[in-house]
Amino acid sequence: MNLTPEPLAYELSRPGRMGTVLPACDVPETALPKNLLRAELSLPELDELTVVRHFTRLSQKNFAIDTQYYPLGSCTMKYNPKANEQAAFHPGWRNAHPLAGDAHNQGALELMYRLQDSLAATGGFSAVSLQPAAGAHGELAGVLMIREYHRSRGQPQRRTMLIPDSAHGTNPATCAMAGLDVVTIPSDAEGGVDMDALRAACDDTVAGIMITNPSTLGLFERNMEAIAKLVHDAGGLVYGDGANMNAIAGIVLPVELGVDVMHYNLHKTFSTPHGGGGPGVGMVGAAPVLAPFLPGPVVVKKGDAYAFEMPAKSIGRLKSFYGNFGVLVRAYAYVRMMGADGMRRMAENAVLNANYLKHRVEKTYKVKYPRRCMHEFVAMGDVAEGIRTLDIAKRLIDYGFHPPTIYFPLIVPEAMMIEPTETESKETLDAFAEALERIAAEARTEPDLLHDAPHNTPVGRLDEVAAARCPILCYRG
Ligand SMILES: *Cc1c(COP(=O)(O)O)cnc(C)c1O
Repeated sequence: MNLTPEPLAYELSRPGRMGTVLPACDVPETALPKNLLRAELSLPELDELTVVRHFTRLSQKNFAIDTQYYPLGSCTMKYNPKANEQAAFHPGWRNAHPLAGDAHNQGALELMYRLQDSLAATGGFSAVSLQPAAGAHGELAGVLMIREYHRSRGQPQRRTMLIPDSAHGTNPATCAMAGLDVVTIPSDAEGGVDMDALRAACDDTVAGIMITNPSTLGLFERNMEAIAKLVHDAGGLVYGDGANMNAIAGIVLPVELGVDVMHYNLHKTFSTPHGGGGPGVGMVGAAPVLAPFLPGPVVVKKGDAYAFEMPAKSIGRLKSFYGNFGVLVRAYAYVRMMGADGMRRMAENAVLNANYLKHRVEKTYKVKYPRRCMHEFVAMGDVAEGIRTLDIAKRLIDYGFHPPTIYFPLIVPEAMMIEPTETESKETLDAFAEALERIAAEARTEPDLLHDAPHNTPVGRLDEVAAARCPILCYRG
């Protein structure tokens, strides 16, 4: 157990030490322009082996799905097959140049076209756009589409978005970004949308509802069709947040539940990892009423050739060139590998794993809404006097597990949102449940073990606000 923080490359530096030997100069030497030279440029001086060890050690401090279990609620940190990585790194894709022209990139366009088709079928949508680069970006696209729809019908006063309080945090944020007014709809005792509150909020200022289904409570909205009908009857449209498609793909078509527009996170469900700040795709699917408003261009087929085309009333471009193309290749490889049956098994296993884990965890921890869950569930960390969810989360790191999402959703006090994902074995789920059980026992007998956790990381509890607001981004040795 090494508790000393890793030295910085600068601190390992020794004057004159080098990792490279430059060949003898075989051209005449000329002075560099003065304005490009700095007298004091403190770069670390290191030999190659020290550099290799330094960066390899740093890389091992990362917490990764390839090393440990990562049940981070709502983020779907599942295992993504390496074969799909390999596909994305094929030189034909990797080296394709966006300015080569559509005639030379027919293969890339064909892949996008086929992917559009498969993903549209997964949701029952008539058209999709692969443009948005993230889930929240897809939400923004959808909300702008709804706004344009109302404007095009001469109803610009429809500016209210109804958002259940069990929605993902990005939902109200994107509505606000699109200049709409957010009205929060409370949940009922069962964790579903309070239908009376919804009915009361449906007036002629309603642009639509934005609903996360399954919700952040991990619950399927049982009244989804009735909710869609209420909103449609009031002249509004339904935005479905489909970031967690791994709970329902192959089982239910969102369009049949009344959803008019929805994003899916290819960087959750479709084989690109979520989190870590990498590129993503928050593809949007639309029912016929909204399809003409999709962001573009989208790929169409004309005779034997593929081409980009703007949908008729498009809200415009959201991403340059082909978007995050590598993510599209992974998604296409994944969809082809899984097929329709595989997609359904993915969802069934996500739900089965979550219910299995919930069944074990709820013997020790409270679960606010104990009915059958979808791909995740929300437990509560207040297992003993003076113990908070933060303490449980930090102690899990000592046991080698990534903590679940904590303090979200906001409507559950001391929330621990646990998403086991479909790719984990029963052994891993059992080991995680055992760790939670042992931590609950420690909470009663040795609470300081929890208060002082984590014990084996270079840094323990961070001031997260200061880290976000006042980051130190360069060396101040
Ligand atoms: C992850 C997630 C989002 C946002 O996706 P990003 O790609 O992180 O922007 C939106 N809604 C739900 C329900 C999610 O789980």
